[in-house]
Amino acid sequence: MSELPRQDLPLLGADPTRTYRLGIMGGTFDPIHNGHLVTAEQARCALDLDVVLFMPAGNPAFKQDRSVTNPEDRYSMTLLATSDNPLFLASRYEVDREGVTYTVDTLQRLRDTYPKNVEIYFITGADAIVDIITWRDAARLATLAKLVGATRPGYDLDRARSVLAGSDIAFDVRYLEVPALAISSSYLRERVRQGQSLRYLTPDSVIGYINKHHLYPSVQGEARP
Ligand code: ATP
Ligand code: MG
Repeated sequence: MSELPRQDLPLLGADPTRTYRLGIMGGTFDPIHNGHLVTAEQARCALDLDVVLFMPAGNPAFKQDRSVTNPEDRYSMTLLATSDNPLFLASRYEVDREGVTYTVDTLQRLRDTYPKNVEIYFITGADAIVDIITWRDAARLATLAKLVGATRPGYDLDRARSVLAGSDIAFDVRYLEVPALAISSSYLRERVRQGQSLRYLTPDSVIGYINKHHLYPSVQGEARP
């Protein structure tokens, strides 16, 4: 397994007398949008996280059914979207890895990298948290990180609660109400294809990147404003 690029990682854990909290926001980020950013910020505040590390998936295990934008572009957009917040960082770790990405491998690598006084919080929306019990090595994943399940319009957090409570695996989960943002990457991709504005759905820097690199072209290839 490849190493975590040190330059991407926050320096945490130096003071043995205190606990540090590292948030991980994983996703395909195709593209990153304000729903991701608001969720990460609310989790940071609610759980007193020192830093949130955004981890774009390289070759996501469960998005094999559609063609995902290349990892370099998704990483660049993530970097742009997080660049003005000193407590948000973007990591190249998964985009640089060969093959299919599994969250458990990334969390294991982070766990091995940091001392015990650094707690890891894996942040997800209400849709993704339900899936976690089906992920590879879910039982080991539960020992590596605490989970943060955030509300997401259209997905029922109570259902997530009961699915996780009914699992054999003892997940350590915090549930979090975030202001409703019914934004998804799918919605943004569709808007670009239709030539519609992305303004206020994702940072301007991301919109500029999408336009400059002609991401999400319409099937017919017609011009966009
Ligand atoms: P797609 O439509 O392509 O699936 P997405 O908007 O769901 O994209 P992902 O990259 O799949 O974005 O999601 C990464 C993480 O962010 C997941 O845990 C997901 O639940 C969470 N998330 C995405 N959008 C929101 C939102 N609007 N509110 C809360 N959580 C969200
Ligand atoms: Mg999704």
